[in-house]
Amino acid sequence: MKYIGAHVSAESGVSQAPVNAHLIGAKAFALFTRNPSRWKSKEIPAKEAEAFKVNCEKYGFKPEQILPHDSYLINLGSPDAEKLTKSREAFLDELHRCEQLGLTMLNFHPGSHLKLIEPDACLNIIADSLNIALGETEGVTAVIENTAGQGSNLGFSFEQIAHIIDRVEDKSRVGVCIDTCHAYAAGYDLATQEGYEKTWADFDRIIGFKYLRGMHLNDTKKGLASRVDRHESLGMGVLGIDAFRYLMTDPRMDGIPLILETPNVELWEQEIKQLYLMAE
Ligand SMILES: [Zn+2]
Ligand SMILES: [Zn+2]
Repeated sequence: MKYIGAHVSAESGVSQAPVNAHLIGAKAFALFTRNPSRWKSKEIPAKEAEAFKVNCEKYGFKPEQILPHDSYLINLGSPDAEKLTKSREAFLDELHRCEQLGLTMLNFHPGSHLKLIEPDACLNIIADSLNIALGETEGVTAVIENTAGQGSNLGFSFEQIAHIIDRVEDKSRVGVCIDTCHAYAAGYDLATQEGYEKTWADFDRIIGFKYLRGMHLNDTKKGLASRVDRHESLGMGVLGIDAFRYLMTDPRMDGIPLILETPNVELWEQEIKQLYLMAE
């Protein structure tokens, strides 16, 4: 069974995220548990955390179908000691928030070398950051998102993601989220049946399907291997609607959250419906 949803607003409190997801017919959702563009965030009040759990229960959302996304400021591979410390602290706070909400996954962007260190050195720092964070928390899996490879962002190739996983001590608590827009921008041709099969065969060989814990479903404004991250509504970009048809009929994507991050929020309800029709 497919669990399709979107990255919904939690602006009026995390407890509203499951309500917002339910209103658009979602069976999965993503959310920010704190302001994604600030370093400091207020604690989640105990009442709010309780209301979140009650609403998830009420609308049938299980932790396996909820994929919180971390703050954009965090760089777990930062070459700058001070920024790395700040990032690790913020990441730990993100994980603690997940624990508080009874959530089991945290989706994050691996990190950037900022052209100051070698990519491999940066990947090693990211793995060290994960080992520290996982050592101080319980029950939450760190889910690495593939990137478009824009600027000096790493994690755009399956090899880079495998490099990080390889160095994580507790492999039961590391996972991967594949974003279709990012994959296409990084050169994985999900637009054709042939490219689709090859991409996932590569994924399985290099990373392994057991690590796939979620997906971001986005069309893209930019071309194959453009290394530019610009999401587009489904079927309106260069990736095209067929890519999503392949995904919806692929049993390997059953059971995991499939999250829209498409730019037109007004279309989400319709996009979810369209995807469910493809999955039938
Ligand atoms: Zn994404
Ligand atoms: Zn993106």
